[in-house]
Amino acid sequence: MRLIVQKFGGTSVASSKVRELVVQKIHSAMEQGFSPVVVVSAMGRKGDPYATDTLIDLARSSYKHIAARELDMIMYCGEIISAVVMAGTLQAAGIDAVMLTGGQAGIITDNNFNNSRILKVDPSRLLSLLRMGKTPVVCGFQGVTVDGEFTTLGRGGSDTTAAALGAALNAEMVEIYTDVDGIMTADPRIVTNAKILDSITYAEVCQLAHQGAKVIHPRAVEIAMQKNIPLVVKSTFSNAPGTLITSTAKGDTQETAVTDKVATGVTYLPNIAQIKITLDAATTHNESYKVFKAMADSGISVDLINVHPGQIMFTVMEEVAEKAAAKLRSLGYAVETVGDCAKVSVVGGGMREVPGVMASFVEALSRNNIPILQTVDSHTSISVLVKKMDVSKAVVALHEKFGLAN
Ligand code: ADP
Ligand code: ASP
Ligand code: MG
Repeated sequence: MRLIVQKFGGTSVASSKVRELVVQKIHSAMEQGFSPVVVVSAMGRKGDPYATDTLIDLARSSYKHIAARELDMIMYCGEIISAVVMAGTLQAAGIDAVMLTGGQAGIITDNNFNNSRILKVDPSRLLSLLRMGKTPVVCGFQGVTVDGEFTTLGRGGSDTTAAALGAALNAEMVEIYTDVDGIMTADPRIVTNAKILDSITYAEVCQLAHQGAKVIHPRAVEIAMQKNIPLVVKSTFSNAPGTLITSTAKGDTQETAVTDKVATGVTYLPNIAQIKITLDAATTHNESYKVFKAMADSGISVDLINVHPGQIMFTVMEEVAEKAAAKLRSLGYAVETVGDCAKVSVVGGGMREVPGVMASFVEALSRNNIPILQTVDSHTSISVLVKKMDVSKAVVALHEKFGLAN
């Protein structure tokens, strides 16, 4: 049996017209000799009746601080509705489809509601359906705990479902169908001349996804990478070949695992706040330990960390900024919070030890009068913190500066 997992995102299942395109993609995989496992997201995007955001708004309209467990139950419904509709559409097209929840498909998670991790996948039910010639249609984004609690895998988590099923089934390929022709050098909603990448390594796309490129969930990439299962990101709405994600840039096992491109893409993470702590001269080097321990004890993750003799700076997600500042003030620190920030990053597997990358980065921003609040770099990325109002300008300027439109 040649197995393929085909995942269709929210816009790909939003209307009966586009669901017909999905049927064509599934038919085409079958004609090529594959037995497909279909994974679907909730139908549509914010504002559509059964979209995840709509269900969240509905739950919060009754009580803003609805418990994470109950929120998971309502979010669960979005993918169930979608999978039932998709299975019906496939049956009407003569495909013997069987709809399964995440739990029925064997996905067992921890009980970290709203952002659960997959602990294991038992593919036996899927395999027996496939052997009977049936086409499973699995609800993305969801699983079940060993105690039978319903869980979800974090926003955008249907990609994770697809990769986890692909890994458990040892599928030949996992296809992620969406509304763009592949992974691009930047979000096409911001950079109009962004280019589609033919191929990209797991490592690079992981960086892009972690730094904000919403086109694929980073955990999906990590899972596929562990089992070396090729992922392809492509459009439901065209026949473009899409972007192949493998351990080598061209999908060729003879090549090294790192591309020679200094910059592969530009991305951004919105809704960030900067926290600055001014230390007086009498403080000891122990202060940074105390500060970061306090954040860890409060369950707050920190990023973009700079520690100087008189000052500690770091960033947190905007939604926890007040909590972080209050905790630090309660410990006696002088804290300043700068809200409405975003992290803009250039990612490239080949930027390691290339001189002048940071200089080019800073030049592009200063030419556009974009103040830099903080910087951080790694072997494969450079990031800066800027004010929210400068994000689009910064992404466009960096995309241009690093020659990504050519
Ligand atoms: P789906 O519902 O199919 O999972 P998503 O909205 O999660 O779709 O992801 C697709 C969207 O990701 C695109 O419409 C695009 O605007 C956005 N996006 C952000 N960064 C990138 C990028 N680098 N390449 C392609 N798309 C991107
Ligand atoms: N429907 C879920 C979300 O909107 C999962 C997904 O689309 O991947 O986050
Ligand atoms: Mg998505």
